[in-house]
Amino acid sequence: MQKINLKNLSLQEIEGLVESLGEKPYRARQIYEWVFQKDVSDIGEMTNLSLNLREQLNKPAYISRLSIANKRTSSDGTSKYLFLLEDGNSIESVLIPDEDRLTLCISTQVGCKLGCAFCLTGKSGFVRNLSQSEIIEQILSVQREIRPPLSSLLTKEGNGVVGDITNIVLMGMGEPLDNYENIIKSIKTMISPNGLKIPARRITLSTSGLIPEIKKLAKENLKINLAISLNASDNETRDKIMPVNKKYPIEELLEALKEYPLPPNRRITFEYVIIKGLNDSIEDAKRLSNILKNIKCKINLIPFNSFEGSDYETPDYKNVEEFQNFLISRHYTAIIRKSKGADICAACGQLRSKRLEG
Ligand code: SF4
Repeated sequence: MQKINLKNLSLQEIEGLVESLGEKPYRARQIYEWVFQKDVSDIGEMTNLSLNLREQLNKPAYISRLSIANKRTSSDGTSKYLFLLEDGNSIESVLIPDEDRLTLCISTQVGCKLGCAFCLTGKSGFVRNLSQSEIIEQILSVQREIRPPLSSLLTKEGNGVVGDITNIVLMGMGEPLDNYENIIKSIKTMISPNGLKIPARRITLSTSGLIPEIKKLAKENLKINLAISLNASDNETRDKIMPVNKKYPIEELLEALKEYPLPPNRRITFEYVIIKGLNDSIEDAKRLSNILKNIKCKINLIPFNSFEGSDYETPDYKNVEEFQNFLISRHYTAIIRKSKGADICAACGQLRSKRLEG
């Protein structure tokens, strides 16, 4: 019989497992906390369960861990982690330190189906969805690496402790809403008081604009932040760089966003990758300011980070600043996002699934 990975289960599913073993339902909460909050890797360590229950649980269940196959740190302090999955595929996460926060950008799929023209992940094609355990493990293993347990702190010197991860962005490899069930389950585990206890306002899901899933997400009432990878102000340009636009054009996407229930004081973030000669003119900025008029939002401007084999070029910084100034003159919050970790290829849309060599 194939064993069940406890890290793939919701609290309700663990309740079902516990009941099938003839135990009281409250035991499920204890197990869930051991797995996601106390981050144990061995059922034997669940010391508030009876020895008998631990033995019983050990037969059908186990707890997985991801191994960090490689870590590279950029000159700006950004670290890119490469994880090797059980089936030989690999995924990447990026840890971005900032003044008052430590943000982890996690992957949601191996590859991506959506094929955005400016994105390295899109160019590698789609392999498969990630499970809850693979999504959550990116957070737990990076956290483990930056803040080792007390016992190892006492024995090692200079191990680079930098504090706790404060923010999560689902913006790495993959389209989160194309892996809907596992993403919702994982976010519930992230925000659960018995799970990772991450405040919902510190979690941001970024999507290319899958309208039916955005409408479904609105009904989940998770109170997380929503970011939209927009990148163009008209359908003709967006069609060129984001094939998803042919199915869900800008005007329909914006209509759906107008109905998205935002918690008080929250805004939708629009990501706009600025590409030289394609979407970087003042005309583009003007159109953008017009189409976003009735949406509570802020705009992140991301100068495209050109890569080998890319058809597009990095914009002139002067144009990016003029673009920003125009939006500000129209009373938008528009921020130029420096591509953190550019030198290790960890900037937006530049994570790539690859098998490890050797
Ligand atoms: S930008 Fe996002 S949605 Fe588009 S191909 Fe890349 S990973 Fe997929």
